[in-house]
Amino acid sequence: MCEYCVKHGEGQKWYLQAKNYSDDLLSDLQRRKFIEDFFTHPESLEDDAKQLERLDRAPGFVRRVVRWRTTSRMKKIHFGQVLPIEDVERIFDFATSIVRVACICRQAVLGSEQRYCYGVSMAPDGGRLGEIIRAIDASYLTGPDTAGLESLSKEEALAAFRQHEREGLCHTVWTFVAPFIGGICNCDRSDCMAMRSTVTHGVPVMFRAEYVAQVDRELCNGCRACMRACQFGAVSYSAAQNKALIDPRRCYGCGVCRSLCAKNAILLPDRSTVRAAANVW
Ligand code: SF4
Ligand code: SF4
Repeated sequence: MCEYCVKHGEGQKWYLQAKNYSDDLLSDLQRRKFIEDFFTHPESLEDDAKQLERLDRAPGFVRRVVRWRTTSRMKKIHFGQVLPIEDVERIFDFATSIVRVACICRQAVLGSEQRYCYGVSMAPDGGRLGEIIRAIDASYLTGPDTAGLESLSKEEALAAFRQHEREGLCHTVWTFVAPFIGGICNCDRSDCMAMRSTVTHGVPVMFRAEYVAQVDRELCNGCRACMRACQFGAVSYSAAQNKALIDPRRCYGCGVCRSLCAKNAILLPDRSTVRAAANVW
């Protein structure tokens, strides 16, 4: 179990707790302000990107201090976790409404509206989260083909997530002032600021999944589709054995490799059952 499960999940997965999506948490004005600022200032992500690049050139002890301070601060306000499609489906089972909005990272990095983020609410029509987002008159929500918020049925949302996964995107769930959960995104390392921060620059702003991937050596035919799909560099290939190998200490447990394996040779057991990965978050 990750730290959030202990703090915000009562020993269960924190993102499967309906109370963490509740409208009640949005009566907190500070949290509402944080969400409004977050969605209206994509340019702040560009500043963050520049700072991360500067940090790469800093001495080791500076990097360690900044890393610790950033991670500690982000755990309080905006931290995420990788999750596989079956847990996305569990969230959709109890959600009352699902809305799709533009991804702020892609807006900042690519300068265009790309709809890969989903707000999940326990209240009809997006609840207070929907109200906040609808009230934001930001250019990134009013692009040429936008309809503001798009409401999706659970089936439509799940089909979209499966398609994102086939495209190689990794599902992640996010707090907006913990423990409130504002949404689930579909990320890739080139455009997602959180993945860049965590994986490329070594400043973690998201936990790995509660799972870790393993290869069934009997079923694997060595095609290497999983290796090409993994955004975390966790898969290698043994020519001598003609098998894929997954490093449990590098695996984030996203399950993208599993969905692209034509031989169904990839399993996703609970992280706690894999000794080498059990305490790697
Ligand atoms: S995609 Fe599946 S069959 Fe192909 S190398 Fe990976 S585990 Fe083996
Ligand atoms: S090995 Fe598979 S489950 Fe692990 S991080 Fe890579 S793609 Fe995700």
